[in-house]
Amino acid sequence: MIDPTLREVALATKGFMPPDEGDALYEAALLAGRNVPSLNMVEVGSYCCRSTVWVGAAARSSGVTLYAVDHHGGSEENQPGWEWFDDSVVDATTGRINTLPFFTDTMTRAGLTDVVRAVVGDSAALGHAWRENLSFLFIDGGHGREIARADFSAWHDHVALNGIFAIHDVFTDPADGGQAPYEEIYLPAISSGKFRDVSATGSLRVLLRVS
Ligand code: SAH
Ligand code: MG
Repeated sequence: MIDPTLREVALATKGFMPPDEGDALYEAALLAGRNVPSLNMVEVGSYCCRSTVWVGAAARSSGVTLYAVDHHGGSEENQPGWEWFDDSVVDATTGRINTLPFFTDTMTRAGLTDVVRAVVGDSAALGHAWRENLSFLFIDGGHGREIARADFSAWHDHVALNGIFAIHDVFTDPADGGQAPYEEIYLPAISSGKFRDVSATGSLRVLLRVS
């Protein structure tokens, strides 16, 4: 289990990671650190860094860096008028969402500034430019079909053999949530033959790279 003080920091942070799924995410990242020592980790979609506390804590225990990828402009469903809009993440000067200050604040409160690096920009563009293999990849970025498909294609192959690929917001039943992470990330990962299921906790799927 994650250090209780860090867990409190995560739970006090704005975001979309339920506590039991955060705990499962932490275990998944620790497993990755054991399976593939010394390779770094990537999170796609940090928002205010709620999930990042769990993954960052596991990166620290594993002795590696976590790269937290986000353009910090919010997803479609975070914009004004949408379901997951929160006006406290809007920059008063520009009138636009900017969650980068929350990255700094949350990582400082968690004491993880030396372990977690912010990588700010479009996730698919960054994934295509990426050159390092990863022990752990967590995708929790945009949930539109195009963005989910682009994230899968840009990032999945960076996961090393025996590394772990975690995906959030995987709903097999449309009544429970949008289908893009399921149909554009989870199913392609399984049908590629490169990954197999390890566990599922709520909407979090944990996959192992097998070929
Ligand atoms: N993991 C977070 C929630 C992430 S919300 C938590 O635990 O609370 C999804 C995030 O993905 C948002 O912060 C949004 O800015 C980011 N995002 C969406 N599309 C993106 C893209 N194409 N490139 C980079 N970041 C993106
Ligand atoms: Mg999510």
